[in-house]
Amino acid sequence: MKLASFRKGQETSIGVVNGDRIVDLSVAAPNLPREMTSLIADFDALCEVVRAAARSQSGQALSDVELLAPIARPGKILAIGLNYADHIAETGRPVPTDQTWFCKTANTVNGPFSPVQLPRVSTMVDYEAELVVVIGKRCRHVSKDQAKDVVFGYTAGNDVSVRDWQYRTAQWVLGKSFDTHAPMGPWIVTADEIGDPHTLGIRCFVNAEKRQDSNTKHLIFGVYDLISYLSQAMTLEPGDVLFTGTPGGVGMAMSPQRFLAAGDVVRVEIDRIGAIEATVTAE
Ligand code: ZN
Repeated sequence: MKLASFRKGQETSIGVVNGDRIVDLSVAAPNLPREMTSLIADFDALCEVVRAAARSQSGQALSDVELLAPIARPGKILAIGLNYADHIAETGRPVPTDQTWFCKTANTVNGPFSPVQLPRVSTMVDYEAELVVVIGKRCRHVSKDQAKDVVFGYTAGNDVSVRDWQYRTAQWVLGKSFDTHAPMGPWIVTADEIGDPHTLGIRCFVNAEKRQDSNTKHLIFGVYDLISYLSQAMTLEPGDVLFTGTPGGVGMAMSPQRFLAAGDVVRVEIDRIGAIEATVTAE
């Protein structure tokens, strides 16, 4: 199932996507939660109602609504650095034995087709195509084997990175947390529909030029490793999102370096999920 957050006129709602149509759950099943995180938290009890609602109506054209970030305010946006061998090679760093985690703050959340800001204070803005995991269950100390059961689904993300701010100090958080710098979407595909998340082609295009082209089979730490490791430190909760790292081909690693400019269009595609696309716009 594909679940989306969307706006039509002044109203925001959540819906089920079927092909090029979306069924508004607030109309088809008015008793369901109106917000994605609440729906996810109760999904085991509600999924049959959601399925029935999705079957009950033909919905409206996707092109008539504005898709929003699937989770409006994730409790946590965690992201791992250096998790594809080809990206590690292009950064000139050794293959890590430990997972390198950082946070992106909530102000970064951005819709799947919304503009990405080119900040006033940097000319070194870069893209990072990433598979994003959406947590479905409250959990702590999850084993690698159990981790599959706490995944709600997957979406596509761009871990937009302001390289000069990222590397000015040893701490990456500021460079990763500029406004609008975590576009996500276009919807969440539930885990049952994805199957093995380590089999997905992932690509990034800038103005139709292919810059990244890899597959999640090249992840150094797999999705279940990530969840198991994080959950040793913290309680993961429904609606938390995990950016799983980017493959090789970022602009910073090109020679000469190629950063994003106003007017550029950045597209991230992941097999079995879909694509998000942003126009870079001066702040
Ligand atoms: Zn990243």
